[in-house]
Amino acid sequence: MAESYGFIGLGIMGSRMAANLLRKNFKVKIWNRDGAKCEPLLTLGAQKVGSPREVAAGSDITFAMVSDPAAAREVCFGAEGVAGGIGEGRGYVDMSTVDDETSRAIAEEIVRCGGRFLEAPVSGTKKPAEDGTLVILAAGDQELYRESIAAFEAMGKKHLFLGEVGNGARMKLVVNLILGDVMAALSEGMALGKKAGLSGEQLLEILEAGALSSPMIRGKGALLLKEDYTPSFPLKHLQKDLRLAVALGDRVGQPLHCTASANEVFKRAVAAGHGDEDIAAVHQVSS
Ligand code: NAP
Repeated sequence: MAESYGFIGLGIMGSRMAANLLRKNFKVKIWNRDGAKCEPLLTLGAQKVGSPREVAAGSDITFAMVSDPAAAREVCFGAEGVAGGIGEGRGYVDMSTVDDETSRAIAEEIVRCGGRFLEAPVSGTKKPAEDGTLVILAAGDQELYRESIAAFEAMGKKHLFLGEVGNGARMKLVVNLILGDVMAALSEGMALGKKAGLSGEQLLEILEAGALSSPMIRGKGALLLKEDYTPSFPLKHLQKDLRLAVALGDRVGQPLHCTASANEVFKRAVAAGHGDEDIAAVHQVSS
């Protein structure tokens, strides 16, 4: 039974996930590259330490939630990284969205250093992270999965074990491929409707009443109407997921016509300076 926990990466998602652990009275050591982001969690009882290595060395189970494969590798393999502190059977659970090759490389290093590894990317955005209603897609060391369930229940409404390392990363990329394709199509449909002289409000009302009704269409559709692009899910991260999904398609020989096209739209949005805005900001390059 784990008694001490660590959390690395306190961005939009990680700050809220760590806060839920603290609210459920878990003991949590924290580290973030920009140390200022640790401050709000100190009032909830977190202990700030100086490096990912220190977090891992002082925690039975360390969670990480960082931006992309480069960040996940840096946090693990870096000079003051998790690998240097993990030893003695301690657990490392990387919840970042990365590709399966990155996840396997991290798993190998953690095991080589005497630790145990689980990948556990999440489905759900800022609000579910805040409400503790994420869906957690875990794969890797099954015993560590069982030991992590109490923490997963504090952060999510559902958790699944998907088998060997890589399956969680792949499943997450498939989920976000669908999200990216739908987001691009919604944005394009709204843009066409507007140019064709139709009411965006009525379009959303019709979508809401029919088979396409979903929290995503409802939520992001409302943001498109208001042109509110405050980030819940930074656009640059969804573009990263589409890029990784296209690369996975290459590796397994699966054509991805819609996704390759959606990736180009999101790349254009990043190049136009919308990477730090919400995924809904793709609308700014749709018209
Ligand atoms: P975010 O707000 O941009 O936070 C990114 C975090 O990664 C920050 O803590 C950042 O540190 C850290 N980081 C970046 N590069 C680093 C490096 N080289 N070394 C150490 N730390 C580094 O992103 P987010 O929205 O929380 O997303 C985090 C992960 O969750 C991503 O993989 C994303 O794809 C995934 N995800 C996001 C959502 C969502 O809706 N937001 C939903 C599901 C999954 P600094 O604060 O110092 O920059």
